[in-house]
Amino acid sequence: MRQRILIAVLFLLCSLPLSAAEVSGFRVWADPVKTRAVLDLDKKTAYKLFTLQNPHRVVVDLEGSSIETPIELDEEHAGLITSVRYGQPDKHTLRVVFDLSESAELKSFLLEPTAQYSHRLVIDLYSKSNRHVSSLVKHVTDISKPNRDVVIAIDAGHGGEDPGAIGPKKTHEKVVVLQIARKLKKAIDAEPGMQAVLTRDGDYYIPLRERYEKARKARADLFVSIHADAFTKRSVRGSSVFVLSARGASSEFARLLADSENASDLVGGVTLSDKDDMLASVLLDLSQSATREASNKVAADILAAMKRNGKVHKNYVGSANFMVLKSPDVPSVLVETAFISNPSEEVRLTQREFQQNMAKAITHGVRDYFYASPPPGTWIAANREGFKHIVARGDTLGGIAQRYSVSLSRLRSVNKLNGDVIHVGRELVIPTS
Ligand SMILES: [Zn+2]
Repeated sequence: MRQRILIAVLFLLCSLPLSAAEVSGFRVWADPVKTRAVLDLDKKTAYKLFTLQNPHRVVVDLEGSSIETPIELDEEHAGLITSVRYGQPDKHTLRVVFDLSESAELKSFLLEPTAQYSHRLVIDLYSKSNRHVSSLVKHVTDISKPNRDVVIAIDAGHGGEDPGAIGPKKTHEKVVVLQIARKLKKAIDAEPGMQAVLTRDGDYYIPLRERYEKARKARADLFVSIHADAFTKRSVRGSSVFVLSARGASSEFARLLADSENASDLVGGVTLSDKDDMLASVLLDLSQSATREASNKVAADILAAMKRNGKVHKNYVGSANFMVLKSPDVPSVLVETAFISNPSEEVRLTQREFQQNMAKAITHGVRDYFYASPPPGTWIAANREGFKHIVARGDTLGGIAQRYSVSLSRLRSVNKLNGDVIHVGRELVIPTS
C-alpha cells in the first residue's frame, strides 16, 4: 500500500515537467459578432478561464505551460482586445491576461491538430452591448416588393484561422478571394436590378453551413463561393466552376478538392455538432431539382463568361460534394478563380487587374443567367426588353432561343436575320417573350 502511494507521488512529480506545454503562437480575429483569440500549444493542456471587471479582463491560466517566443497583438484585427500580457503567478502556471475594451461573454474550447496547426486553445469573446449587428441583417429584401433587385450572396472562402490554400510565394487564398469578392460585390451593385451581399467582409472564419444559412436569411437568389485552387502539380492552371454533385464527386480530382475545401471547418473552428445532418440529408433527398437545375445554368453562364475572359481549367462545369453548396433552396456555385499553386497564377491572383477581370467575368455570367431566367417580380423580369446576348463559340440560334424562352422566328425578326448563321461575338437582342 505504502509502495503504491510512493509510486503515485513519483509519477506525479515526473509527469509535471513532461506535460509542460509551450505556447508557440497567438492570433486574433474580429468578425461582426465576436472576437476570436487563438493560442497555439505544442500539446493538449488543462486551462482555467475567468473574467475580471474594472478594468475588463479575461484571465487564462494554463497548467505547466510556458511562452518561449513573445506573443504580440495584431491591433488591426484585435476587436474587443486592447492588449495582452502574460506571466507566471506560480511555478506551474502560465497566466495570459487579455485587456478588453468592454465586458464580454466567453466561450472557449481546445482544437485538435490539423495539417496547418498544432493543438489550439480558442477563446471567443462576445460583446454584451451587441453594437455589432451582422451587416447582412440590413440587407434582407422584401420579396413582395414589386420590381425588387435580385440578391446575390458572395462568399469569400476560408478566413481567419483558416488560410485556405497557400501559394509557393506564401500568398494566402483567404486574402485574395476576399479582395475578389469585394470587387465582385462592387461590380454587381453597379448593375441595375442586382444587389450583392458578402457572407464575410473581413479576415475571420465562418463555418460552412453558416455561410449558406446567411445567404438564405438574406433571401438570396444566388450563392457564389469564391476560391483559389491548389494542386500538387504546379503547372496546372485555369479557372473552374463547380456545382454540388448529385452523389459524391464526379471525379477523383473533384473529390480531393471537395475534401480540402470541406476540411476548412476542422481548421477554422469547431465542426458544428452534426445533429442536423439528418435534416440536411432529408432536405437534399427531397431533391431540390429546381435549385440544382438553376445552379447548373448559372454555372454554365459563369464558365462561358470566363472563357471569353481567359484560360479555363476544364471546358465544362465540374461537380463535387462541397458542403458550402448544400443550400436546399438557393442556387449555388463555387468558382475556383485560378490555381494559387501555379507560380504565375499566384502572382496574378494578387493583381488588381486580374481580380477586376475575374469580378467582371463572374458578373457577366450572373447577369446572363438572370436575364435568361429572371425570378418573377424582379426589376430584371420587368426590364429585360432589349437585353443583348453576345454569341459565344458553340452557340446556335435555336439554343439561344430556347435559353431565353423566345420563339426562333421572333429572335430572327428582331435581329433581322434571314437564316440561322450567327457569328461569334455578334450581339443579339433578346425580345421579351
Ligand atoms: Zn478554397
